[in-house]
Amino acid sequence: MMTREEYIESLRKLNLQVYFMGKKIDNPVDHPVIRPSLNSLAMTYELAQHDEYKELMTAKSHLTGKTINRFCHIHQNTTDLMNKVKMQRLLGQKTASCFQRCVGMDAFNAIYSTTYDMDQELGTEYHKRFVKYLEMVQERDLVVDGAMTDPKGDRNLSPSQQPDPDLYLRIVEVREDGIVVRGAKAHQTGAVNSHEHLIMPTLAMREDDADYAVSFAIESDAPGILMIYGRQSCDTRKMEEGADIDLGNSSFGGHEALVIFDDVFIPNERVFMCREYKYAGVMVERFAGYHRQSYGGCKVGVGDVLIGAAALAADYNGVPKASHIKDKLIEMIHLNETLYACGIACSAEGKPTKSGNYLIDLLLANVCKQNITRFPYEIARLAEDIAGGLMVTMPAEQDLRDEKLGPLVRKYLQGATGTNVENRMRVLRLIENITLGTAAVGYRTESMHGAGSPQAQRIMIQRQGDIEGKKQLAREIAKVDVSLDQKPAGK
Ligand code: SF4
Ligand code: FE
Repeated sequence: MMTREEYIESLRKLNLQVYFMGKKIDNPVDHPVIRPSLNSLAMTYELAQHDEYKELMTAKSHLTGKTINRFCHIHQNTTDLMNKVKMQRLLGQKTASCFQRCVGMDAFNAIYSTTYDMDQELGTEYHKRFVKYLEMVQERDLVVDGAMTDPKGDRNLSPSQQPDPDLYLRIVEVREDGIVVRGAKAHQTGAVNSHEHLIMPTLAMREDDADYAVSFAIESDAPGILMIYGRQSCDTRKMEEGADIDLGNSSFGGHEALVIFDDVFIPNERVFMCREYKYAGVMVERFAGYHRQSYGGCKVGVGDVLIGAAALAADYNGVPKASHIKDKLIEMIHLNETLYACGIACSAEGKPTKSGNYLIDLLLANVCKQNITRFPYEIARLAEDIAGGLMVTMPAEQDLRDEKLGPLVRKYLQGATGTNVENRMRVLRLIENITLGTAAVGYRTESMHGAGSPQAQRIMIQRQGDIEGKKQLAREIAKVDVSLDQKPAGK
């Protein structure tokens, strides 16, 4: 396994094509806007070497028997699934942001079982190839960006019907030794901090869309790959000289990028699906299931920090004992632990796939994510309620540091008697960061749309919810005699 420092050094060696605000970034590793997201990812390496956390952060590879980072692991049982959620909660607590490495882990597990099923039915050899690739990833302890979401163009049209055929990533050429692909993946979490991209199709495909049914792995600095780094609310605060308090979270963050594939060559040994359109939907469903489970860990960890910050804000406001404040904090904990309960439940109810790895319970994973589309917003609302308006109207750090203005800021921003004004400002800026600033990308909008928008979960809940089975239960209790219905009820 790599140390934190080795990971950072390994990124320096990559020749990434990264753009931000119209300019090419020659050194993404040390860029002030990007660096906090790298620090979050580096935490996945740091904690894996930490005496207190290494047991949770590592696993034994079922391929080699070696100790590996859990982010590179193929889940072998329900304990592995639960440990994944616990690890994500821990990292959310330590970074209060998105630490980006989960998408790769979720892609590994989805592709592992899907390629196995494909090979069984179609006589292909994708699983063997993928296992070999995975061994390399585990051995080198790499960060892999699991990439699913295409730009999708006109949502009313299938991939092959789009006026611009590149709006879904596709195969443009099949050669003897590999394939050439073109298109883009949007919202790619951690792309700039990744050694590799691992591509999956974005939705179930029909025969007409076979060129879009493609899965492969590629080095992130391969020729033809270009990344445009996404803007975040308040991101340029990080470029201000001496910025600290106003960042809210000066050490950690997350990021997304638009990753463009301009005729990229993929050698055969890195191709895991090539036009087997029947399996595109299976891969998508499994990846989405794993990633919906993931949010029951990472968002809960960030929620822990936000609840703590709200409680601190109440302390600095001088109202920690007010009954309505206590009640709001209880409500926040209730909501946050409900999310965690869903993450643990879908893991505990996991089952083995034919390939041997464990898949979460899909209904419960979708219920987990559906709650995630709501509860973080309510937790954020309560945090803002407790914090008060000062979190968005407070003077800047420069004013606090100014010779003339500083004493005025300290005088008028004084909270609970005897407490420190700067500390109060730090806590309020952290709440701003998570609810409105750079971390809100991960805590709010990603909670809504990441791992699939709410409607995607509702479709799965309908499919998996067994309404017919439930009707039968009701018929039996109510002693319904269906032979008396002249026309079958509900038909
Ligand atoms: Fe991991 Fe959460 Fe970030 Fe997704 S949003 S990569 S699950 S930390
Ligand atoms: Fe995500």
